[in-house]
Amino acid sequence: MGFRVVLLGPPGCGKGTQAEKLNDDLGLIRLSTGDMLREAVRNGTELGKMAKTYMDSGGLVPDDVVIGLMKEKISTIKEGFVLDGFPRTVQQAEALDEFVDIQHVINFEVSDDELVKRLTSRRSCPDCNVVYHMIYKPPMKDGICDKCGATLYQRSDDTEETVRARLKVYRENTFPLIEYYDKKGILLNIDGEGSIMEIYDSIEEAL
Ligand code: AMP
Repeated sequence: MGFRVVLLGPPGCGKGTQAEKLNDDLGLIRLSTGDMLREAVRNGTELGKMAKTYMDSGGLVPDDVVIGLMKEKISTIKEGFVLDGFPRTVQQAEALDEFVDIQHVINFEVSDDELVKRLTSRRSCPDCNVVYHMIYKPPMKDGICDKCGATLYQRSDDTEETVRARLKVYRENTFPLIEYYDKKGILLNIDGEGSIMEIYDSIEEAL
């Protein structure tokens, strides 16, 4: 079994981009609860219908739902993995501790103004979930995913109003996880405002 890593930080801090690089370079499987939930919404499943009401307002999907989803997913994985967007509450972190031993938690520090700037200019691939930024990380061909050729879209929760709501939810529910993991001695804080490569280098160094 390879590394078991959690990427922690507010929406737009670069978790998805770095998780993708860890997948490309180290073969760690990227597990994103956000991607799993968006897929369920697209497929119109019962889970998707329920999750959509929370996601549209920038709120959190109930703990028992995402814990069940992640537990099932992790049980199928033999290799190392990187969690992107889970856990988001102390209850989720405690549940995770019961079924897997996390080795490293990387916390990205980015200012709110920078997060809003990044999220409102973000474009995402609906098929392979790669994320782009219109200025910092544009695709080679306008509006088309470099990796799989699908048409990129703007997430409905990446509007300024919903982004502000998501940042508030982050501060209230997810921020306490920094102390939770710091106490366990597995937390690494990194400056999330450097270039994609600088940030990646600090992560690699830490692993
Ligand atoms: P993300 O793609 O990580 O930004 O997640 C998008 C949305 O999915 C969030 O705003 C939440 O509504 C929901 N979501 C994703 N992960 C979780 C989680 N671990 N716990 C609760 N809700 C989540």
